[in-house]
Amino acid sequence: MPEETKKTNFIRQIIEADIAAGKNGGKVRTRFPPEPNGYLHIGHAKSICLNFGIAEDYPGATCNLRFDDTNPEKEEAEYVEAIQRDVHWLGYDWGDRLYFASDYFEQLYQFAVQLIEMGKAFVCDLSPEEMRAYRGTLTEPGRESPYRERSVAENLDLFARMRAGEFPDGSRTLRARIDMASPNLNLRDPTIYRIRRGLRHHQTGEAWCIFPMYDFTHCLSDMLEGITHSLCTLEFEDHRPLYDWYLDTLKTPCHPRQIEFSRLNLEYTVVSKRKLTQLVEEGIVDGWDDPRMPTIAGLRRRGVTPAAIREFADRIGVTKSDNLVEMGQLENCIRDDLNQNAPRAMAVLRPLKVVLTDYPEEREEWLEAPLHPQRAEMGTRRIPFSRELWIDRNDFMEVAPNKKFKRLVAGGEVRLRNAYVIRCDEVIRDDAGEIVELRCSHDPATLGANPEGRKVKGVIHWVSARHAIRAEVRLYDRLFDHPTPDNARDGSSFLEHINPHSLEVIEGAMLEGGLAEAEPGQAWQFEREGYFCRDDGSEGLVFNRTITLRDTWAKIEKQARQA
Ligand code: ATP
Ligand code: MG
Repeated sequence: MPEETKKTNFIRQIIEADIAAGKNGGKVRTRFPPEPNGYLHIGHAKSICLNFGIAEDYPGATCNLRFDDTNPEKEEAEYVEAIQRDVHWLGYDWGDRLYFASDYFEQLYQFAVQLIEMGKAFVCDLSPEEMRAYRGTLTEPGRESPYRERSVAENLDLFARMRAGEFPDGSRTLRARIDMASPNLNLRDPTIYRIRRGLRHHQTGEAWCIFPMYDFTHCLSDMLEGITHSLCTLEFEDHRPLYDWYLDTLKTPCHPRQIEFSRLNLEYTVVSKRKLTQLVEEGIVDGWDDPRMPTIAGLRRRGVTPAAIREFADRIGVTKSDNLVEMGQLENCIRDDLNQNAPRAMAVLRPLKVVLTDYPEEREEWLEAPLHPQRAEMGTRRIPFSRELWIDRNDFMEVAPNKKFKRLVAGGEVRLRNAYVIRCDEVIRDDAGEIVELRCSHDPATLGANPEGRKVKGVIHWVSARHAIRAEVRLYDRLFDHPTPDNARDGSSFLEHINPHSLEVIEGAMLEGGLAEAEPGQAWQFEREGYFCRDDGSEGLVFNRTITLRDTWAKIEKQARQA
């Protein structure tokens, strides 16, 4: 990588220092450890780009994909598949390093037995409520469980019987024996195993009815995989002493280093699987891949590219300070990427008929237009021109409302993009008084040339009526109308801040014919309208708006600040 574009952040600096000092035999191994209890979101993308990005950039470095699947209540095989699809789509490959924490259930069980044998773990019969009461608070020490002094033999016997399914859920736990007076609540004899009978785990089926807790599972899974740098979000900082305690107490052959960074919080959305699940389950959105969702699947369906997401991850960087990233930052990455790469086409979203009275009925011309105005190498497209055209209703007014209106008015002229200058001679209305057609004439001398002796300022897009294809167009906008919907400071729920205008469906848009063959995932700029891509999963021709051409929210926010 050339020096000037080299990525850097405090974690990469730690890794580089470790490599220089010959730590871990010079190896760098990271992992991305999602729990398969929902779809990945843009916050996960930050972690994916960090972990897999490190593996890409250091010689010999690797990154594992590990499912942290110790909560069968909430986990599903569907999520396991979706997560793999999304990580691949972002452009990362774990090769043969796909793991499940549940692969280690037997080993983890044996580690727990070792802790019991060392006198470092015990079976506790306190109920969940009692356990909470015994735990103490931040200012008061906890109390020791009356079961803490059980003999090793009794603990071994009870733990084996927990595994064998002899005891009901919640009746017993296995706990670490650390320190009930520790100022760190995580060290107050934390639970290691809990009982959940009668569940089917998506990987282990009915083989287990006791499940290890996150802290115990995570450090040991990292260790078993030889992870060198275990990167996680800041809320795990207080768990690090426990991460280290398990590894130190078990004297494991290697000891991964946990490093915390701040999670991504993004304005105008929520990034919590629990809340996203609620949006899906309550039918507020049309599934996990609804184009308004901040999920990877939603962003993909909306037409956002992996390159834009990776660029966003680079721009926001990795630090330890909590912050809220402006939605505009993500949108700018999306716009920059699409502006450079999306071919152009014309699409009329709210069609109004134009008839060129001076253009012969049977005539048609095939005009040439660039696919991208700045990138000649992308080639050209051929656009049919004929007597009857569609233009957008918003591009016509009988009388200009102000000087800024540079579109078509009655008696006025406008240029049709890539084609001729036309003049509106007559406005036709239906019985209800609604404008249904414009009778116009064209100036044949204006194809690729300025009109003689007058200036025509406006340029509007159009399509030939005879050649146009009809499509549904979905105009998506931000899902929430509050910058921090889940932290609105007035006690309101994030569900109260859904943007009522987050989706507008246009049924009868008229598109340039070439768009009939558009592939889902291929972005197009509909000139003067925004960036669109064909919907994946809809029957018929449906296009999703990825993003508008300009940041329309910047203005709204500025007004809100001034109010
Ligand atoms: P959620 O609260 O949405 O369920 P999670 O942290 O519980 O998120 P996991 O599946 O456990 O979700 O996360 C997998 C990895 O992604 C973890 O290492 C986690 O720290 C990281 N991660 C999750 N959310 C974010 C975020 N908003 N920003 C950065 N990293 C994140
Ligand atoms: Mg989690």
